[in-house]
Amino acid sequence: MKCLTIFALLCLPICSSYPLNGAAKEEDLDDLDFPQRYLEYYYNLGKDTKQVYRSKDNGPVIKKTQEMQKFLGLEVTGKLDLDTLEMMRKPRCGVPDVGQFHDFLGTPKWRKNHLTYRIVNYTQDLPREAVDSAIEKALRVWEEVSTLTFSRMHEGEADIMISFAVREHGDFYPFDGPGKSLAHAYPPGPGFYGDVHFDDDEKWTEDTSGTNLFLVAAHELGHSLGLFHSDDPEALMYPLYSSFRDLTQFRLSQDDVDGIQSLYGPPPTSPDTPVVPTESSPLESKIPAACDPALSFDAVSTLRGEILFFKDRYLWRKLHWKPQPEFHLISTFWPSLPSDLDAAYEVISKDTVFIFKGNKFWALRGSEVQAGYPKSIHTLGLPPAIQKIDAAVSDKEKKKTYFFTGDKYWRFDEKRQSMEQGFPRLIADDFPGVDGKVDAVVQSFGFFYFFSGSTQLEFDPNARMVTHIFKSNSWLLCNQDREKTDVGF
Ligand SMILES: [Zn+2]
Ligand SMILES: [Zn+2]
Repeated sequence: MKCLTIFALLCLPICSSYPLNGAAKEEDLDDLDFPQRYLEYYYNLGKDTKQVYRSKDNGPVIKKTQEMQKFLGLEVTGKLDLDTLEMMRKPRCGVPDVGQFHDFLGTPKWRKNHLTYRIVNYTQDLPREAVDSAIEKALRVWEEVSTLTFSRMHEGEADIMISFAVREHGDFYPFDGPGKSLAHAYPPGPGFYGDVHFDDDEKWTEDTSGTNLFLVAAHELGHSLGLFHSDDPEALMYPLYSSFRDLTQFRLSQDDVDGIQSLYGPPPTSPDTPVVPTESSPLESKIPAACDPALSFDAVSTLRGEILFFKDRYLWRKLHWKPQPEFHLISTFWPSLPSDLDAAYEVISKDTVFIFKGNKFWALRGSEVQAGYPKSIHTLGLPPAIQKIDAAVSDKEKKKTYFFTGDKYWRFDEKRQSMEQGFPRLIADDFPGVDGKVDAVVQSFGFFYFFSGSTQLEFDPNARMVTHIFKSNSWLLCNQDREKTDVGF
């Protein structure tokens, strides 16, 4: 699970002090934060969208409110009325409803039909046997209608690792106490992908007096197998928890069955019928370069919680909740940008990504190139002798931006908007272990990731040392066992 540290999973806790299951009150309408956060998290509302329920220019929020109302089967008004607010406060699955699973390369799915699972820990709410049996039953729901089979592991790394946790639990999607988000699961893939986490602040029960473990497990396992949320309220994959289900009558909806069979096919009709093998990943044929062990990058930057890897005319885009990166032409998003970039970095406080090529740089906000660019890199305070930079990164905590070129670097103070005195300094003096030409740097989880050719160094700026070495393309998930070396400090 260590590989988790290099993924850009953005922390977006839905934490609020709303009472559980209570009816929406008039005064709740005054707390505009909660619905905004709900739409940001579950409906991919841009985080830069101002709190605009009150203002006149409220296009994106109204659109997202309508999208949510449509998905969850409410009257589509675009208004934050009491019904809508009440719906937002119902217990539900913690996986977003739209946006996050939108897929460029096809739906994430397992490339095999036999999967392993492991119950890593238990809730105190139920006897162990009850948990085991709820999970087994939940897996059987999917097994019965598809070619999938499951077997249990008691130790080691299974495809689907099942655990109970509260609040912050190591994946940057903290749980939120009782109610609201009940559980979440990751789509198929290596490492933590496929895993299911239950919020142990819920009261898990075998019946429906509390939160029924079987129902939630069956839903979450649907995600582990590659299913999205359904807008069909009858479907198991509908995002809201329903305690009204008669468990003895439980069955999947046609929507659920169609979903799983579209990924894995129907169950064999007789023992003689051979199981259709799953196709191999389309990834290799479409993006051969991603899995080239010699792959290097021109520039790497975060952008609103995603990570962009630039190479020639192309970029890979690593989104949250999605194991496989998207691949695009740079010109798809920014037609006026050049190819073969030198460097890129994001200043999160300005919601701006700066792009460098030669002695020029551009400023991007989302998909817009800002007016007045490109500008000369010398306007930043770099000396005239410098005609290009190799890499750049902005430290969002320290509000400093580093420009790397050759074996030296400069440091820019984002607060004062000026280059600092005493630079350039040698990279090797201040980033021990980072040697060779730096192609790209990105900051994630407090680490700096230095890319140099096909090698990637994870640097801890506080400890001032390299903590891991990876292949540069490790983010693109080419192989199930990504190459990884502990440096051994
Ligand atoms: Zn869900
Ligand atoms: Zn989790």
